[in-house]
Amino acid sequence: MKKGMVYLVGAGPGDAELISVKGKRVLQQAEVVIFDRLINPFLLTYVKEDARLIYCGKQPCRHTLRQEDIQKEILIHARKGKTVVRLKGGDPAVFGRVGEEAALLAEHHIPYEIVPGITAGIAATAYAGVPLTHRVHSDSFAVVTGHGSKKSGAPEINWQALSKGVKTIVFYMGIKHLKTIATELISRGKTSETPVLVIQWGTYSKQRTVEGTLANIAHKVEQTGLTNPAIIVVGEVVALRSKLAWYDNRRLSGRSILIPGAEENHAALIDQLKQQGADVFAFPLLTDYAAVEREKLESLLGSAESKELVFLSADSVQLCLQAFGEHNLDFRHVHSPIYAADSSVRKRLRSVGIQAELLQDSHPLQLPVFIGKEAEVESARTQHPRQGEALILTKQRVSQKNIEAFQRLVAEQHVNSLLITSRSEARQLLTFLTLSGIGPKICAGLQVCCKGKDVKRLLQAGNIVVQSLIEDAELTELFNMFQTEERVVMEG
Ligand code: SAH
Repeated sequence: MKKGMVYLVGAGPGDAELISVKGKRVLQQAEVVIFDRLINPFLLTYVKEDARLIYCGKQPCRHTLRQEDIQKEILIHARKGKTVVRLKGGDPAVFGRVGEEAALLAEHHIPYEIVPGITAGIAATAYAGVPLTHRVHSDSFAVVTGHGSKKSGAPEINWQALSKGVKTIVFYMGIKHLKTIATELISRGKTSETPVLVIQWGTYSKQRTVEGTLANIAHKVEQTGLTNPAIIVVGEVVALRSKLAWYDNRRLSGRSILIPGAEENHAALIDQLKQQGADVFAFPLLTDYAAVEREKLESLLGSAESKELVFLSADSVQLCLQAFGEHNLDFRHVHSPIYAADSSVRKRLRSVGIQAELLQDSHPLQLPVFIGKEAEVESARTQHPRQGEALILTKQRVSQKNIEAFQRLVAEQHVNSLLITSRSEARQLLTFLTLSGIGPKICAGLQVCCKGKDVKRLLQAGNIVVQSLIEDAELTELFNMFQTEERVVMEG
């Protein structure tokens, strides 16, 4: 029997690009992923289609999956021989209970690896422009819990040693006890004027900071209503932020945009949006799967000279030839004339040694066979007066990972805008919302922006209200729109 393997992986603090290369690789290989509330849900789009996802954050009607239950869950799947990833926010060994989980695995002789992640204290301070150590201002730092196991929850710490011995102190889970923390530090040796910075949702575009001193920080935080997840940084280095801040005051800071399409199709745009401070989450919502029927392929062979084969997209060329190969059929036995829906398709056909005629609108087709992905074929058949036959190469379905990622990104307010730049992505979004059962209502709290009137019409026909329309995905137009449109404030 295959032996199980467990990876205890740090997902990083928020920004999805801060997971390690190794962390990403094992996530892509995992058969079971047990994930925390504090991970960026976008990371779930990396897992395999059929991976099992288990959430162990707060459940709607129950409390958090208890640590014993999580451990039981890890054991069950590892014993079945599965590759399990336990994905945690930040670093798994910094207030992440990795010690208990690893001990349990060792006890049961289950192989495991610990994959470190960037912990919030390191990452959020870096994004806020605060160096934890500094040749002049700080020769030490400590990460400290701001939450104790006593009934009151107040931290039980050697305050004296901490105040006197450490220059920069980073508290985790401390917002609730901020007043106690400040009072203790002042009474044990730090001056009341020591600078303090509180950073909420560090490394996300929605990162917020409140700056003050030990004397006034508790009051300031209370006034802004800032809550967890947040870290508290105490020390002189905080003052350096006035010169070093680089992240949270950019043009699109606070903007978080979901694009329903593959990252590689929007690479340049995504780069620009990120450089301006936005979070961008782009992933194809639907998954293609091969759907070619052998009889359909056979019907194109030999005698089918009267038929006209119409390739509808560049992708369809490769997919079709592949299908012939997979069914042990030979494309050279196809004798029908071949047409390309547009010049890009013709170019692709030419690249594999097939000469095709361009399909002109006026060209009278007699017995067309439309070749393409399901959506392409459907749309071609509505446009052409002769319905013709169809060779559907791929169909689309939704996967649990995309449902999970999409719902969590919106529900946990990691996304406040939707950007749709083509008809096919609009169709993809609508199909996804229908097939997944999520429905278009989920878009109601989002700033929906699209390119082109026909895309807007399509979305509105699917009950998605479009607030902003741009005529072309010109970056300046897009930036202005995202900068000036009021950010949608969502209820917590
Ligand atoms: N293992 C995690 C910490 C888990 S404890 C790590 O290494 O980062 C949970 C606490 O971490 C939160 O209460 C908060 O204090 C801190 N935290 C986690 N993510 C954060 C973020 N993006 N910004 C600010 N604080 C964060």
